[in-house]
Amino acid sequence: MNPMDALTLPAALGLTLRRHEPLAAYTTMKVGGPADYFVAVQTVDQLIKLARWARQVGLPYYLLGGGSNILISDAGIRGLVIYNRCRAVRIDAAPLQCIGPVDERPYLFAESGAAMAGLARTSVKAGLAGLEWAVSVPGTVGGAVVGNAGAHGGEVKDTLEDALLLDETGEVRSMAVADFAYSYRDSALKRRQPSQAGFKAVVLSANFRLTPGDAEAISARAERFLAHRRQTQPVEPSLGSTFVNPPGDYAGRLIEAAGLKGAQVGGALISQLHANFIVNPGGVGAATAADVLGLIRHVQEQVHQRFGIRLEPEVQLVGEWKSETRWITEVMG
Ligand SMILES: Cc1cc2nc3c(=O)[nH]c(=O)nc-3n(C[C@H](O)[C@H](O)[C@H](O)COP(=O)(O)OP(=O)(O)OC[C@H]3O[C@@H](n4cnc5c(N)ncnc54)[C@H](O)[C@@H]3O)c2cc1C
Repeated sequence: MNPMDALTLPAALGLTLRRHEPLAAYTTMKVGGPADYFVAVQTVDQLIKLARWARQVGLPYYLLGGGSNILISDAGIRGLVIYNRCRAVRIDAAPLQCIGPVDERPYLFAESGAAMAGLARTSVKAGLAGLEWAVSVPGTVGGAVVGNAGAHGGEVKDTLEDALLLDETGEVRSMAVADFAYSYRDSALKRRQPSQAGFKAVVLSANFRLTPGDAEAISARAERFLAHRRQTQPVEPSLGSTFVNPPGDYAGRLIEAAGLKGAQVGGALISQLHANFIVNPGGVGAATAADVLGLIRHVQEQVHQRFGIRLEPEVQLVGEWKSETRWITEVMG
């Protein structure tokens, strides 16, 4: 018997370990094969204990937030997928683990599994400015902190004060915003995140420093951003922007100019509304990850042929991609 088949979680954790859990439904693209092992955690304490236990028994783990920026392979993820449902949020006068000087502005504390859009709504309702841009951004606080999510001219790095991490050695420590070395949709942490399960750092919670302002004006700004989203982005399952914008241009503009709107591979197609979105209108069971990757590759080739520009994927390819190894090398570099 495979020794892994005998794995049992310590009863003290009170968590359920599932085998062969299909992951498509946990992603916004509705694509992806199974996880060998799958556990949903509700509290930061469970998250820490589970990750430490996995390390102890030699079971590599992969942190799954909202699944809104990852393309999981059809073969799925080997090891343990930890589904982050730690969602507490509160407004503090000053954060417990604050590293920098405390000023008069309030802090918004969030556990890493909280929805970024929900966090933004909490801040807007409280008349706090700084996170309005996030009202329409899917995914969790953890995913946003790792990838420096942003929209409408704002991004995580503008208001993040610090984050609590379970680091690569299994220790809990605080990390100041400067240590993330943020750039456009990127961070030092993201560069170290694996495409496979491993023993990488886990964001446990984050503190954002916000500015009290005119509640009506803050709310109006958030509404404007939401309305703009509804008009310009497709509602079908997707991963948001597929490619990062090349310097001085827009990936969507280039894809549209290459005549690729509506291009299709299997169940995946380029949205008619926004050319930088690959959509899976049929949902779970329609497009495969291989379809999506095939379309990514097609777009890269066509745009390169027409404009000499190589588009880089914004979405991360995750899991086991045996049959597509050659593509991965070509597509992801
Ligand atoms: C319709 C749509 C619109 C979008 N619009 C935007 C936009 O305007 N701006 C933008 O920036 N993005 C946008 N995105 C992309 C996506 O919402 C962001 O990248 C988001 O921050 C990802 O968060 P997540 O929780 O879904 O991360 P996931 O996709 O679950 O994970 C992404 C990566 O982060 C890692 N990770 C997740 N949580 C943790 C944690 N707690 N600790 C350590 N690592 C972790 C994962 O292992 C993985 O490597 C959009 C996506 C969609 C589907």
